[in-house]
Amino acid sequence: MKLTYLGTAAAEGLPALFCNCEFCQKARELGGKNIRTRSQAIIDDGLLIDFPADTYMHALNNKLRLDKVHTLIVTHSHSDHFYSKDLIMRKPPYGHNFAVDTLQIYCTKGAYERFVKEINNEEPFGNIEFHILKAFEPFTSNGYTITPLPARHQFSEDAFIFIIEKDGKRIFYANDTGYFYDNVWEYIKTNKIYFDLVSYDCTNVEIPIPDTGTHMGFENITRTKNLLKEMGAVDQKTIQIVHHFSHNGNPLHENLERLATPLDMLVSYDGMIVEI
Ligand SMILES: [Zn+2]
Ligand SMILES: [Zn+2]
Ligand SMILES: [Zn+2]
Repeated sequence: MKLTYLGTAAAEGLPALFCNCEFCQKARELGGKNIRTRSQAIIDDGLLIDFPADTYMHALNNKLRLDKVHTLIVTHSHSDHFYSKDLIMRKPPYGHNFAVDTLQIYCTKGAYERFVKEINNEEPFGNIEFHILKAFEPFTSNGYTITPLPARHQFSEDAFIFIIEKDGKRIFYANDTGYFYDNVWEYIKTNKIYFDLVSYDCTNVEIPIPDTGTHMGFENITRTKNLLKEMGAVDQKTIQIVHHFSHNGNPLHENLERLATPLDMLVSYDGMIVEI
């Protein structure tokens, strides 16, 4: 599988939309890997993870043909992960000649309800199909087996992190979430799951956040990584990546690399490609 990180920031972006803090100032000045758009990733250019408002620019910057996307999986309904209004662009007259006739969308109930509310009277909407996800219930789409696990993130409604498998390889895409719930640990342990790649929520960077919080930072990630190793879920061959950064925690790329390298972890950036 080829995983491309299209956007790597939290909701506000880096530099943040209206912010003039020291990190945002520095990000504007330095550019390059310090420019981070809202979180999104794509596997093998056909399985899209999340749908922020930045999707359009992501397609342009990465030369993607979004009409070729067969599956969209949505972690949760926050607007930096699901900007449902843009889905209407898949409907004629806004789009024609799609390589894939029907886009399969697998999402939370909350995300679906938001879509219905925002699109309002635009039904019928023939070429996208929604499926509501349930935690611990794997499904298959276009040859990928995907298992949604509960994320500690949005207490008012479901939020998911995903295990994505194909051809004997396994990715754990784990944001947005706080420290994993007990039943997530249990699921990984009981099923003796091994990951070839883990992508961790690193929103807080160095700012401490308790395990009951809805994001993680390096301290929580280090413990998560160690426990996964103890369980045999990761080893020295596993590619481990920190991802999804808020401007508040000093997410300048150089600082993130300083923190991640001693842990044998990589730092995501917009446009980063990893193959397993
Ligand atoms: Zn987010
Ligand atoms: Zn800022
Ligand atoms: Zn969120």
